[in-house]
Amino acid sequence: MRPLIGGSVKKIDRRREVKNERQEKARQERWIIEKEKHGFFFIRMLRKDGMKYLIFDIDDTLIPSTKFYAEAMQEIGVDPEDKAYLDGRLETKKDLPEGYPSSRNRVIYFKKMLELKGEYTPQRHYQLVSGYEKALSYRVKHFWESNRRSEIIMELKKQFKRVILLSNETTRMQLLKWQAMDPEGELFDGLITSEEVGIEKPHFKMFQKALQYLGNVPAEESVMVGDSFEHDIVPALDLGFSVIHTKEFKPTALRSESQRYQQIFHLEDLKKIIR
Ligand SMILES: [Mg+2]
Repeated sequence: MRPLIGGSVKKIDRRREVKNERQEKARQERWIIEKEKHGFFFIRMLRKDGMKYLIFDIDDTLIPSTKFYAEAMQEIGVDPEDKAYLDGRLETKKDLPEGYPSSRNRVIYFKKMLELKGEYTPQRHYQLVSGYEKALSYRVKHFWESNRRSEIIMELKKQFKRVILLSNETTRMQLLKWQAMDPEGELFDGLITSEEVGIEKPHFKMFQKALQYLGNVPAEESVMVGDSFEHDIVPALDLGFSVIHTKEFKPTALRSESQRYQQIFHLEDLKKIIR
């Protein structure tokens, strides 16, 4: 009978998967319709009580990653506007399914860039990767320390049971940033990357994984802080999280007229909202 039991478990798993995919598709379709009709929907005011878990996006939320990526590349002699680099990036993304985490992997971009230039050697590739990581790590560490970000997170931490990181990136890249911000793991209680989930935000699986990681807690007890409407704000609202949109590193981003979520202009502003 064993194979039968195994088979039926698989069938149930598959059915659950199909149901999840259907819900995700319906959710995405609903966004598009609602977004066109009303801007964003389902947004609620941030509740000040009953929130136990704080979830941060990393890039352009906690640190100005977009700026640092460009600077780190320049430091290793790669122009982010270089044609071979852009073509390598495009080719990487074209080869992979949408939302697939490796499509953000600069290790692959550098490889393809060197191949396109006819300059590929394993040593040159490795030099670019390790030089880039070193330059990036230095910037994150310097920014974090000189802006006293640890003190802000420590203060916030007193209000929550747990504080975690939820990010669309490879685990190695986000580990690099986390160790630069918080080498002893005193600030954040964990990291979840799209690489380990297998799909990127805005997919609901990322947010569900975060809730599961926190101990199967309800979204209603959790606050999501992020910079991206598409990847952080809209899906988290839709799933019932309280949501804070940060414009710290993207001050030109849309100003919200909505009462359904809050915006901040500096990480420190969180202390005023969450008390
Ligand atoms: Mg971000």
